[in-house]
Amino acid sequence: MESLQLKTKLLYLLLSVALGLVVVGFIGYINLLTMKKNVDTLYFGSLIPLSELNSINSAYHHDFEASIYRWKEGLISDDDLAQNITLGLEHVDQMWASYLSHHKRPEELPYIHYTEEQMEIMKRYFEEIRSLVFNHTSRSAISVVTLSDNTSSIHNTVSGLIAYETATATYEHSVLLSHHQNSLIQLAVMLGVILLGVMTFAWRIFMQIEQQQQQLLQSTQALKHLNIKLEQASYTDTLTGIFNRRYFNLVYEREFKRALRASKSITFIMVDIDFFKQYNDTYGHLQGDVALQNVARVLKTSLLRPGDFVFRLGGEEFGVILTEADCIHTRKMAERLRFNIESLNMEHKGNKKTGLLTISLGAVCVIPTELMNNESLLHTADTNLYAAKEHGRNRVVFSSTL
Ligand code: GH3
Ligand code: MG
Ligand code: MG
Repeated sequence: MESLQLKTKLLYLLLSVALGLVVVGFIGYINLLTMKKNVDTLYFGSLIPLSELNSINSAYHHDFEASIYRWKEGLISDDDLAQNITLGLEHVDQMWASYLSHHKRPEELPYIHYTEEQMEIMKRYFEEIRSLVFNHTSRSAISVVTLSDNTSSIHNTVSGLIAYETATATYEHSVLLSHHQNSLIQLAVMLGVILLGVMTFAWRIFMQIEQQQQQLLQSTQALKHLNIKLEQASYTDTLTGIFNRRYFNLVYEREFKRALRASKSITFIMVDIDFFKQYNDTYGHLQGDVALQNVARVLKTSLLRPGDFVFRLGGEEFGVILTEADCIHTRKMAERLRFNIESLNMEHKGNKKTGLLTISLGAVCVIPTELMNNESLLHTADTNLYAAKEHGRNRVVFSSTL
């Protein structure tokens, strides 16, 4: 029972651990997913300053190239162009400064420096145009070809930087993704290993409990067996193998009370071997023991009903209890016992009358009442036995009153 409770407790523990691991795994998984999302946003939102570079490109195109074309066509005045160039240069400087403020990897720096140099050249070029415009130079003095070459050259340079930034970010992002994937696998493997470990550990404990339970069961069984044997031994007479005096005391008290409750008759017969001292003297103590065994065996086999008991009360004295027997039957039974012993035809030279081993019996059969005590039944049987001895032995003296 206790081991069962222990098993249930262990099972709960195991389930809790497993559940805990699953929850930890789930939380870990969610965290990794959130982390990935954040990193995605970071990479393509803030880490790559594409907007600044695109804005620079657009400034070269709109503020400078487009403005100069419009000026050449007379669509805007000299002052307007000069102002556009000034604003454009300021805007480019701002955007570039903002671009540089972002994190830069060392391998990017040469490309950034190169772009910066190109932008410096462009700055000087546009500053030169601005000073020409200030001096109201002829609109045809500025070469369209040079302008187109310069703007497309700086456009290509900045676009190259944009492509480089994007490629690097995409590569780093893929590396991060594979790290994320690895982390997920590591998490799953780690949880799996822990779960397996816990299961193995629990399984071993389960097996140990099972084993101990089996051993306990076997020990209990063996102990029960031993107890039964011990009990039997304590109720058995070692010489004759029939019940002993100790068991007689138990059975007698029990059956007396039962008869009293049920108002049924109870019989007690006291049996004593005649001239047994002489038997021992004649044939020896060992032969005397054999005789006792024979008498016990015959007495036992003569009693047929389940409610009939025979005991060795001590020495060469035996006691017989008959339950469920009326008094006529008692007398017959006592007579049968006497006859069966005589019929054994065991030689007993000391018994002058018959020359055989015989017994005397004092029998009593009553329906017990509250006034009687169980001692008086035994006493009457003893008195009857004494009378049987007095009247020549090898006989039954019976009474149905106390
Ligand atoms: P009675 O006819 O009056 O009963 O005479 P008895 O000789 O049978 O009676 P007594 O009480 O004088 O003697 C009983 C004898 O039983 C004495 C003892 O040596 C013998 N005896 C008692 N127990 C044992 C035993 O276990 N083995 C053997 N061999 N003899 C026993
Ligand atoms: Mg005796
Ligand atoms: Mg005797």
